Amino acid sequence: NYTLGPKISDWDEQRRRWLADHTEFPSRIAAGKPRILLVTGSPPGPCDNPIGDHYLLKGTKNKIDYCRIHGIEIVYNMAHLDWELAGYWAKLPLIRLLLLSHPEVEWIWWMDSDALFTDMAFEVPLSRYDGHNLVIHGYPDLLEQRSWIALNTGSFLLRNCQWSLDLLDAWAPMGPKGPVREEAGRVLTANLKGRPAFEADDQSALIYLLISQQDRWSDKVYIENSYFLHGFWVGLVDKYEDMMEKHHPGLGDGRWPFVTHFVGCKPCGSYGDYPVERCLGSMERAFNFADNQVLRWYGFGHRGLSSPSIKRTRNQTARPLEFKDQLNLQAKVSIG
Ligand code: UDP
Ligand code: MN
Repeated sequence: NYTLGPKISDWDEQRRRWLADHTEFPSRIAAGKPRILLVTGSPPGPCDNPIGDHYLLKGTKNKIDYCRIHGIEIVYNMAHLDWELAGYWAKLPLIRLLLLSHPEVEWIWWMDSDALFTDMAFEVPLSRYDGHNLVIHGYPDLLEQRSWIALNTGSFLLRNCQWSLDLLDAWAPMGPKGPVREEAGRVLTANLKGRPAFEADDQSALIYLLISQQDRWSDKVYIENSYFLHGFWVGLVDKYEDMMEKHHPGLGDGRWPFVTHFVGCKPCGSYGDYPVERCLGSMERAFNFADNQVLRWYGFGHRGLSSPSIKRTRNQTARPLEFKDQLNLQAKVSIG
């Protein structure tokens, strides 16, 4: 029977004691904000197509920018920690390892490599989740209907606590490569609405777990849809110009999506659900849309959303710091 590791049942106590003994590593940072570790990664080897590696790099730069601006630490993992849980299941052993290795971290934030921050000013409203341990984008009514897209596991937050270790333990058993994953896939397809026939994936498995053991988990799961913790790229990427005309960063919702996630694109693999040119063009737009919000601080901006070329957006000055104060004021209104 597959397990993620030695059974731990007193993590809250272990962690509490460690934190008490290590006040030099507080679980809260400036202004009392909980410490967050953003975790992402990609397979150990090169992409099937070199352009895939280029977009992995862009996705990484995008995350570094967001995390630098907001005081979030980053882990980028390329190791297969557990061969049985390769592929989209790789996040489970990785998250467990990081929860245990970083008791000072309050929240682990998993983000897929193919998800980009597109609102550089928006911050997750953490105080809203004080009573919850898993924050994930989705729709409760779809979950009720057992839809296989009721939740999206491309971007979610997990609190560092015993409950989360228990969730990972309950979530992992459908993951092991081979007959276990194949058979679990049949169970998931038979039980979830709209799910095509394929091996068990982490998203379907989580949805199935939350439906079939609702009493065990649901009170600590916050299903978020008031902003795009995950936003499906189709329906967002063609509206960026319109958003720039009418709105401003910091909203995080349909007016200025927090995250744009390229579900079904697979630029690093060989086959996705959409034409590769459409995926790459859309990723380029999302990247530049986000990058404009960063470059603006430095007085630059992209010429258009489809091209990496940039132009100056303000004149150079011999007194850059005076101008910076002005910019910060503006920033208060428009960028955060
Ligand atoms: N991933 C990883 N190592 C792997 C395969 C996937 O870290 O060997 C991560 C990567 O960040 C990816 C996520 O797991 O975005 C989800 O995997 P999936 O195959 O669903 O890729 P996606 O659909 O996001 O391209
Ligand atoms: Mn993804």
